[in-house]
Amino acid sequence: MPINTVTSLSDLRSRAEEHIKKIKGNLLDLSSAPEEMVRLINELSVYQIELEMQQAELIQSRSEIETSLNRYTELYECAPTGYVTIARDSTILELNLTATAMFGIERSLLKGHRFISFILAADRPVMNAMIDDVFSSKTHQYCEVTLLIDDAQYPLIQSRLSGHTVRLDAVVSDDGKECRVIVADITERRKAAEAALKMSEDHHRLLFENMLNGIAYCRMIFEDGRPVDFIYDQVNTRFETLTGLKNIEGKKGSEVIPGFKKTSSNMLEIYGRVASTGQPERFEFYGEPLKIWLEISVFSLKKDNFVTIFDNITLRKQADIELKKLSVAIEQSPTGVVITDPLGNIEYLNPMITSMTGYSPDELKGQNPRIFQSGLTSASIYKELWQTILSGEVWRGELQNKKKNGELYWESDVISAVLHHDGSISNFVSVKNDITERKRLLAELSAAKEKVEEAELLKAAFMANISHEMRTPVNGILGFSELLKNPEVSKEEQAEYNDIIHQSGERLLHLINDLIDFSRIEAGETMLQITETSVNKQLKDLQAFFKPAIDKKGLRLRCAPGLPDTESIIETDSSKLSQILTNLIQNALKFTNSGDIDYGYSRKDSMLEFYVSDSGIGIPLNMQGKIFDRFRQVDNTLTQFYKGSGLGLSISKAYVEMLGGTIQVTSTEGQGSTFTFTLPYTTQTPKPSALSTGPSALNPLPSALKILIAEDDSMSTLLMKKMLQGENITILYAVNGRQAVEIIKLHPEINLVLMDVQMPEMSGFEATKLIKQLRPDLPVIIQTALTTKEDREKAQEAGSNSFITKPINKTELLNLIHKLFS
Ligand code: ADP
Repeated sequence: MPINTVTSLSDLRSRAEEHIKKIKGNLLDLSSAPEEMVRLINELSVYQIELEMQQAELIQSRSEIETSLNRYTELYECAPTGYVTIARDSTILELNLTATAMFGIERSLLKGHRFISFILAADRPVMNAMIDDVFSSKTHQYCEVTLLIDDAQYPLIQSRLSGHTVRLDAVVSDDGKECRVIVADITERRKAAEAALKMSEDHHRLLFENMLNGIAYCRMIFEDGRPVDFIYDQVNTRFETLTGLKNIEGKKGSEVIPGFKKTSSNMLEIYGRVASTGQPERFEFYGEPLKIWLEISVFSLKKDNFVTIFDNITLRKQADIELKKLSVAIEQSPTGVVITDPLGNIEYLNPMITSMTGYSPDELKGQNPRIFQSGLTSASIYKELWQTILSGEVWRGELQNKKKNGELYWESDVISAVLHHDGSISNFVSVKNDITERKRLLAELSAAKEKVEEAELLKAAFMANISHEMRTPVNGILGFSELLKNPEVSKEEQAEYNDIIHQSGERLLHLINDLIDFSRIEAGETMLQITETSVNKQLKDLQAFFKPAIDKKGLRLRCAPGLPDTESIIETDSSKLSQILTNLIQNALKFTNSGDIDYGYSRKDSMLEFYVSDSGIGIPLNMQGKIFDRFRQVDNTLTQFYKGSGLGLSISKAYVEMLGGTIQVTSTEGQGSTFTFTLPYTTQTPKPSALSTGPSALNPLPSALKILIAEDDSMSTLLMKKMLQGENITILYAVNGRQAVEIIKLHPEINLVLMDVQMPEMSGFEATKLIKQLRPDLPVIIQTALTTKEDREKAQEAGSNSFITKPINKTELLNLIHKLFS
């Protein structure tokens, strides 16, 4: 117990008095002593006991203090850190055992030595500074220094820490005369710290070098506060790879990338801003000099410095551009594109889909393409479609769909799945084309093809038919003219044979006329000669014409004009009208074996409606529309009973239409047919066509005509001579064009020239030209087949006044001559 904690004096007095009471009587009997003395003796006794007790307690306290001191000394000596007490000049005044061991020198030798002499020379200023600081500031100071003890001078006594780094923590004593220093060996700690630092540095370097981004530490160069350039302090390998720039550390940006300041002034601005404000920025940049796209993050670690971290995003940018191009292409594509999710809900559609279907994008997004279904495409097609695309295959097909307005349309579709990396379906893409028009054209085309094929067949049948139709009359002519050579043939037989020969010639001529008419119609060269025509007269003539044949077949031919003669005069091409009626009556005659043939007309407003009706075999319903086609016959086989070219009705139809009417048929098989056609009931004469003009301008018919016939074929010449016999006509002959011109020169009295076209030495066209130069007023009639437009033009060019078709018909020829001179 410490002294100051010894029981207080009053406490001691009371305990001593207690003690005396106990021993009173035993010690001495003071009853007889004077009171003052007894009191004094008693007081002394108390003092004595008091002293004795005090001594005992002091002895105990001392022992306790000694024990405590020993314990503290032990603690001091054996503490894990060294304790050294030094003077201001670092002289060691005291030190514990641990510090002694740290020095490895006997304690007695250390005392009086300066601590600083055991420190590495380089570290001594550090320690001196610390000592100065601690004494002057009287606050705790520390430093780290290396112990260095000369082994040769001081033999080692214990584990010595020479070469170790120690931390010295110093405080000055209260009186300020000495300083207590705690010495701790921090070599291991420092090593660990260094190792940690190195590791961290290594990590940093590895990170720096192996990063996928390029990094550059740079210093900004400012001029008048404006960023003008920068210096690359450090760059990583990736920087070099990405930019292709090598060995640039320490170099300026402008030096490394020529033209940089001009082309990248914007980037320079950003770097300057980041370096001065410290605010990080991120941007994309196209480096023109390097031709690469970079994504750049810039930040600043130190004022006027900046770090750029960047990635070469050129490929991504290119992909972006490609993507943009593709997206523009899809947007503008004339093909429809629809993209759906795996459930078929529409996510995207291009504008073409809107034009195809009439639905707006808002109306379609989120919808299922079922919205387009018309219900006309079979369920099996949709089943196959889904099976195909769900299996990852491409489906191609055609669907008949419905637009928003209900209109049906056809589309061709190519639908396929877009897959995720794991093979699952992310989307379906459908590429659509409206093929409605194509389908229609195809249908038309195939119908046309069928028609062409049919026409080919018809043509073949026609050729066979025509050849048969030609041979038959030619056989008749040749055969019976041969028989006529026999002198024993009777007069009756002669007449009969002549009749047959004539009929055969007529039949042949009819066929040839049909062919010529047909080819003119086909070439668009048919000319109309519109004149005043008495319809009633035509009808009457036809009756006379057909009477023999009608009588021969035992039929009846009845004519019913619909207007009085005076009102039956119309403006039309009379020969065409006659031809139409002849064709129809001839057919009626051909296809009727008993009964009547009626024909006539009636007026229907501004039209005349003609009819030819028979009680013949009739025409099947399916053929009634077709018989007006060229070559078309109800029975197209060669074994047909009723002969014909199959051209009559097509020619009639063409003529009717040219004259401004229409033609049709009604018929019942086995009962007969009625053909009706209309013509305008007009009395106005339309302007005649070019070749039909002229006669009015020519001289009146002379009382005696002198005609020059230019013809190299003697038979044709003879025929014409015979045809003109009996008329008051003198004929001169030329066998070629040249001769014709010569004769014209010699005979100014010639009134008319009949000019063949194909002649030796000089053609009819050439001769006509020369004759017209000599005598422009002399009428020239070209006699030819004139089947082509070219021929017609040549005739016109040569200056001819008219033409006549071979074989020449007597009436036609005389009519023409008369017309020219009337
Ligand atoms: P064709 O020279 O063969 O008579 P058309 O063009 O005049 O040529 O007639 C075509 C076809 O129409 C005939 O072959 C015949 O089958 C049918 N036809 C025309 N007129 C009649 C009719 N009055 N009665 C029955 N069939 C007819």
